[in-house]
Amino acid sequence: MHLLTILAFAFLLWRGEMPASRPIIGNLSPASTLVIVLFQPILLGLAAFAASRRARRLLTSRAVSCHRAQRFHHRVTLLLRVALIGGFGFSVFGTSWPEWFAFESISPPLQIVGDCIVLSPYFAGAIALWLAAYPYEQTIRRMDSSGPDDSSINPPWNLAAYLDFNIRHHLLIVAVPMTLILFAADLIRSYGATLTQWSRWRGAPDVALGVVAAGVFLVAPIMMRRIWRTAPLECGPLRSRLEALCRRKGMRCRDILVWKSDGYMINAAVMGLVAPVRYVLLSDALLANMTPAQIEAVFGHETGHVRHRHIQHFLVFAFVGWLLVTALMELLGQRVSAPGSRPIGSVWTVDGIAIVATALFWGLGFGWLSRRFERQADLFGARCVTPPAHECLLPCSVHIDENTTLDGGDRVCATGAAVFASALDRVASLNGIPREERSWRHSSIASRVRFLASVAGDPQRAIRFENLVRRIKVGIWLAAVAGGLLSAWYWTDLMQRTAQSTQ
Ligand SMILES: [Zn+2]
Ligand SMILES: [Zn+2]
Repeated sequence: MHLLTILAFAFLLWRGEMPASRPIIGNLSPASTLVIVLFQPILLGLAAFAASRRARRLLTSRAVSCHRAQRFHHRVTLLLRVALIGGFGFSVFGTSWPEWFAFESISPPLQIVGDCIVLSPYFAGAIALWLAAYPYEQTIRRMDSSGPDDSSINPPWNLAAYLDFNIRHHLLIVAVPMTLILFAADLIRSYGATLTQWSRWRGAPDVALGVVAAGVFLVAPIMMRRIWRTAPLECGPLRSRLEALCRRKGMRCRDILVWKSDGYMINAAVMGLVAPVRYVLLSDALLANMTPAQIEAVFGHETGHVRHRHIQHFLVFAFVGWLLVTALMELLGQRVSAPGSRPIGSVWTVDGIAIVATALFWGLGFGWLSRRFERQADLFGARCVTPPAHECLLPCSVHIDENTTLDGGDRVCATGAAVFASALDRVASLNGIPREERSWRHSSIASRVRFLASVAGDPQRAIRFENLVRRIKVGIWLAAVAGGLLSAWYWTDLMQRTAQSTQ
């Protein structure tokens, strides 16, 4: 959902940048535009209600396993979300809907109000999907609470609390920072010519937008901790234990926060690029359902992301992706633009290819990198819960016997790995995730547990894995520096040539 909301805002940014702001399929009458735009959320909502009803029937039917019902609901929801963003994309690029609210002609700062109105069918659709899913979620929650598992901390969730949670977690968390960026983009577009004239540099508007986006990204954690409902973790043995871990591992953060979800969410996260705006979040249900050692392991995993600088490397990776896609577009653009004229069809093709290339780069590349980083954070988490030698009871490559501890840097203690694996298993069982289910950013819990066990038994494997991640990071940096230099040379050369040809 986060990605789709980013995409919805990106549609508006692209639409604003397009030279001829003309819809793809000619001129629709205002009435048809209105029907297309307004009926989407209603239709999606109705489809979602039907799907939710069927999923509930499957859940309560004895003939079908609970997992099949969950899988059905999961897939239909995904499909409806894709339909939501696809439909919204059509409203933005295929109709004159955005032009109805081009308020920048009245006053540039007002354009953001117009943008919010243009976005409103997307928000309405997202809310309709949650409204439809609510009865299904209620049934799942009731079934969880009556199960043999002790996750019966879930009180019944009323509709207002359910919507509040989803709107905050899945919509506002992206919409607030993106609205700030969109606002800046609107102003920069309106005052771009003045900015270029004043700075005597054509790249000034783009750089200004980049600076605003970077600033928003940097301070986002301060907004996020308020958009989500959070509170500092109370003083006590657990907080002292986690603070001791921070000191031991050299991890600096502004605060450790409890992430409030009415007992719905089993999750932990770290946010913030630098210590003054860095927070570690542990959800209420996670704290209520796990042992202190397991919580420490999870906290250690988040610490691993910080100490291994994963966010920074993701940013460099994103920069490499941007360079690659820009280079591809530049190459294709030169091919399709015949001298003098620029056929609109070909420009659309280039844009289409760029979108597919971006999707592939992120879908495949980012997923692959993220799974490696998650494993590295797992190993870090396991090392954080390494017990003293006399408490290590498993055959272990760190604690050879009660008196011999081999501190080989990359080695992992078997007991630490087992504690970490138990935390992973607990997260899976509480979240109702099948152990073998993998996602875009995470390998399956089962494969992460197997990896930990194999690494604990074979120190060489741990060392080889850490070396692999080191090489990946160096590769990303080399690609970024080489690509950056190459594109700087290319654009300077191009600008000089254009300047010569106009003289
Ligand atoms: Zn992680
Ligand atoms: Zn050990």
